[in-house]
Amino acid sequence: MASRLSRRAMRLSPSPTLALDAKTKDMQRQGIDVINFGIGEPDFDTPSHIKDAAVQAIQKGFTKYTPASGIPELKEAICKKLADDNGLQYEPSQIVVSVGAKQAIYNAVQVLCDEGDEVVVPAPYWVSYTEIVKLAGGEPVEVPGEESAGFKMTAAQFEAAVTSKTKILMLNSPNNPSGAVFDEAELRAIGEVCARRGIYIISDEVYEKLVFGGNKHVSIARANPSVKDLTVVVNGVSKTFAMTGWRIGYAAGPRDIIKAMGDLQGQVTSNPTSISQKASVAALLGPREPVEDMVREFGKRRDYVVRRFNSMPDVTCGEPGGAFYAFPNISGFFGRRAASGDVLKDSAALSGAILRDARVSVVPGSAFGMEGYVRVSYATSMANLEKGLDRIEAFLANLA
Ligand code: GLU
Repeated sequence: MASRLSRRAMRLSPSPTLALDAKTKDMQRQGIDVINFGIGEPDFDTPSHIKDAAVQAIQKGFTKYTPASGIPELKEAICKKLADDNGLQYEPSQIVVSVGAKQAIYNAVQVLCDEGDEVVVPAPYWVSYTEIVKLAGGEPVEVPGEESAGFKMTAAQFEAAVTSKTKILMLNSPNNPSGAVFDEAELRAIGEVCARRGIYIISDEVYEKLVFGGNKHVSIARANPSVKDLTVVVNGVSKTFAMTGWRIGYAAGPRDIIKAMGDLQGQVTSNPTSISQKASVAALLGPREPVEDMVREFGKRRDYVVRRFNSMPDVTCGEPGGAFYAFPNISGFFGRRAASGDVLKDSAALSGAILRDARVSVVPGSAFGMEGYVRVSYATSMANLEKGLDRIEAFLANLA
């Protein structure tokens, strides 16, 4: 008998970050005191001038369909942002506004990737890349970065993974979950391989503003201008302006690719919310102080979390250059036993036991294609970080 679900649906895994967040919130609703280090979502409120723009949009009746690919005013604000912040020149016809950066990535993969095409995905990678590639019929080719190289795939590693079927490179800097930030020279070298082999790049730059210390975000389309015409730059307002729930992301790139992405969107979702689009104009054109304040606070938390992990016996934690995640190596605990008697054989088992026994949610490294680590989001208050890290420390110390 034919299966009820399509083969596509049967191959699909649910998003582990969203599943863990739902489980954590469910436990909290039941009155269980769980600390959420699972989800990557700024804990700050959306700045008030952005909310005011949304209220005004509602009051003025800006509540109808907009062009599927976004309002001209927002596309112009995005062009200005890309020119001012990233040194990249685009016309509004090269911009598509989507329901979060996630939809922009999905659309880009759908319009670029044919059945059987290979897509290079440097690991560790954000959980949805590989599933999005599979939904398009593509084959994700994982290229693991070395911890000693800050988890960054080198141009040589990339080239070794390229075949005649390679169509796309999924690049993400600053990286979720490792926090790695590629510098200009590294991006130039990777871009050089793409230019020579005619490989398209989907460059997810959603954490661009969240960089610390001497780290600086550069777009690969700027670092190596010879790949600008092969690159779809993806970004959004969620992380920079604490606007995760508003669901506004965008892509900039060659006109034909962007047009196809807009056409696809017109058949699938229509426009992103009209009200959120107006709010995003205010975010992109408005004052940057709220962003700077958030980044300063994230920087303090990063230092604290990294210090705490490195002070725990058998844990090592590199210093992430950006985003708001720590990615400590916890492989030293594999094979030990939790209070329940369970042997902790991998990061999924360890994360499960941390949630059950220590009441802290963290995402296993295996969800990001890298075993031996867990991802800890420090996009939560310092008080929560102290409490959650105390619990993890006590939990690890008690493993037999
Ligand atoms: N990007 C965030 C995270 O990794 C949001 C959740 C998701 O969409 O995966 O936690």
